[in-house]
Amino acid sequence: MTERPQGGKRWKCPRLFLCDGAAKNKNFTRIHSFSIRFYGVNFSDDLVYDKLTDELFQCTKCGKTFTTLQIENVLAEFKKKEEARY
Ligand SMILES: [Zn+2]
Repeated sequence: MTERPQGGKRWKCPRLFLCDGAAKNKNFTRIHSFSIRFYGVNFSDDLVYDKLTDELFQCTKCGKTFTTLQIENVLAEFKKKEEARY
């Protein structure tokens, strides 16, 4: 079932995030990387560390990767442009 907006509004066509490569591809696969970061702590026996999980999105055509932040920024631009029309 398609989700519908409230109040009798109609959805407009979605604006797609597209790869900026030549193919203007809209499909991405998700890539995860996992790491652990250690801190040197003076005068302490405790080992202090962070676990890090990074997520990238890779264009299925040209292999270019984008971070979540890059994609969010582009979507935020779409929103700004749409808001400017009101
Ligand atoms: Zn691409």
